[in-house]
Amino acid sequence: MLKTVANFDRIGEENAFAVLARANALAAQGRDIISLGIGQPDFRTPEFIVEAAIKALRDGHHGYTAANGILPLREAVAADLHKRYGVEVSPDSVMIMPGGKPTMFMSILMFGEPGVEILYPDPGFPIYRSMIEYTGATPVPVPIREENGFAFSADETLKLITPKTRLLIVNSPANPTGGVTPKSEVDKLVVGLEKWPDVAIMSDEIYDHMVYDGEKHVCLLSYPSIRDRLILLNGWSKTYAMTGWRLGYAIFPGKLYDYARKLAVNLHSCVNASAQFAGLAALTGPQDEVWKMIAEFDKRRGVVVAGLNKLPGVSCITPKGAFYAFPNIKGTGWKAKELANTLLNETGVVTIGGPDFGILGEGYLRLSYANSTENILKALERMGDFLATRKAA
Ligand code: PLP
Repeated sequence: MLKTVANFDRIGEENAFAVLARANALAAQGRDIISLGIGQPDFRTPEFIVEAAIKALRDGHHGYTAANGILPLREAVAADLHKRYGVEVSPDSVMIMPGGKPTMFMSILMFGEPGVEILYPDPGFPIYRSMIEYTGATPVPVPIREENGFAFSADETLKLITPKTRLLIVNSPANPTGGVTPKSEVDKLVVGLEKWPDVAIMSDEIYDHMVYDGEKHVCLLSYPSIRDRLILLNGWSKTYAMTGWRLGYAIFPGKLYDYARKLAVNLHSCVNASAQFAGLAALTGPQDEVWKMIAEFDKRRGVVVAGLNKLPGVSCITPKGAFYAFPNIKGTGWKAKELANTLLNETGVVTIGGPDFGILGEGYLRLSYANSTENILKALERMGDFLATRKAA
């Protein structure tokens, strides 16, 4: 028997990938599948970004780069954050990462160990809890409630902090709910956090461009009182339709930056050089395609919410960000994961059961509206026919 460490028995997964594999297998058998499952834009990476990567390869950028990323890209990230949020960020605190996930992986590794507590949103991105459990720290779910528009409640979050708390993970706009935490609530949360100077904060802002109804994203970097313990997670995956490029960035404060740099040296050496040049082109080039894509998501948001609210036993509040709807399906009588599985098997519509995002996800499905309006309408029709005829077991 191989003797491996116990941590690996505790590591979780992201079920969206398993569902994607199942849906692909069904499609390969000739089934007509409509995917509202995986969270990635259904758009191509803008052509000028692809060209920049090709040019980088032709220009001979074939070698390792510095572990923290090429300087022009770190400067471009700092300039972009300054332009969009008016915040001062030193390029020396920007770490180029192979996607958004490695930032949560590294941050949780830096703070998690047995005997400490890490707060994370529930429902929330499943990797937070998975990594917390991996480190042996105690995962403390922060309830994210429909009645709050799936925003963080500052009061409820602050009440969960104890002397054992090392790290608080926040995410807005949020996966899986599309919830956006309003500025008033973020202000209150930050004031409360000032009383807990030993608690680090990791703010996952990977959907920061995707905020609708004329609202503005609140970037946690704009709160000076927490800057010395704030880790920012962001990247190119969602904004520039670049999920497969594996390109993200983090802002790490103080000594955490060097920890992250060392982890990078130990783990991946550096991010693919041509992807870094693509990321540079993305940030410094025209943003029209980004805004076109987001306007399209906004339109589909209206279609998916209106359609869901017509389904028997289903209600859906209007998500204010990202590209997810999180309908309440309690009135159907179905358990969420059973409904998601049966919908896939019997109608070919791919959704994700809410419990894949935490205990409080029971009674909800996640639908990604990163699919064409035509397909969204077809999926809603199939779901409607199914719910009208099939009762929960
Ligand atoms: N954070 C959130 C909230 C996400 O939804 C995702 C991807 O779905 C990520 C981070 C990871 O992004 P990446 O694909 O760049 O690793």
